[in-house]
Amino acid sequence: MNILTFDIEDWYHILHKYPSDILEKWNAYEDRIHIGTDKILEVLLENNVKATFFILGYIAEKHPQIIKKIHDYGFEIAAHSDMHKVAYQQSPKEYKTDLETCIKRLEDITSEKVVSYRAPGFSVRKENVWVFDVLKELGIKYDASIFPAVRDDGGFINFTESRPVKLKFNKHEIKEFPMSMSSFLGNRFTTTGGGYFRFFPYSLIRILVKKSDYTMTYFHPRDFDPNQPMLEGLSLKRKFKSYYNLSGAFTKFKKLIKEFNFIDIRQADKLIDWERAPIVNIDKEGNVF
Ligand SMILES: [Zn+2]
Repeated sequence: MNILTFDIEDWYHILHKYPSDILEKWNAYEDRIHIGTDKILEVLLENNVKATFFILGYIAEKHPQIIKKIHDYGFEIAAHSDMHKVAYQQSPKEYKTDLETCIKRLEDITSEKVVSYRAPGFSVRKENVWVFDVLKELGIKYDASIFPAVRDDGGFINFTESRPVKLKFNKHEIKEFPMSMSSFLGNRFTTTGGGYFRFFPYSLIRILVKKSDYTMTYFHPRDFDPNQPMLEGLSLKRKFKSYYNLSGAFTKFKKLIKEFNFIDIRQADKLIDWERAPIVNIDKEGNVF
């Protein structure tokens, strides 16, 4: 099963510093969201592929017509926070208010309940598993926030499953779609999202997707916008991860979509035999068992 997802945010939403005047900064930047989004939609419609779109509330507020268009084409509208702040840097209360705002902005446009979610930068880690209580309260049934390997902004390293599981936390359950991982010499890594997808050659990505039972993807509109400005103040490492091989990414993406069958989270949910899916328990300290 190969699941196609997008995180809908603009070129300046690269996770970086989070100053108190971030909203003013964002509002002053050039809008480029439509460039990558239109390319994505064209490829999906051409190939008749469904996908889940995790969308920032900020984008929904600023560009409701883009969300309306994605929804009208029949794609799943899902939440990616309102202000793209990593989850573990917020209090549970602040986090809930932000996510509630995002969900409301999306639902006001589509008149449909939002049930799927991904945290900015996969920022659900051992120390902020309280997130799952908030997701339950807000009616989220499907989560794609776990990155089961080391990562700058997220990375739930003691979570070892990289396939859909029933995640049990505080007496409730959520269907978890973690990022898919490959292993090499004891290292866990992914090739099917963001900078990783741009970095690895298509020949390797192809082999790994082919042999895997479960592939999760994540792309951004900016991954397919080679002419975007460079955000100021990024570290060298972040610059490399954010801008490496932007020019080749769209061609690779089109190859991937043509070569493999992709579905969205709603379709995946119907195909999975949840009765037989693995169960992962997480306690309030973030221990996984
Ligand atoms: Zn994001």
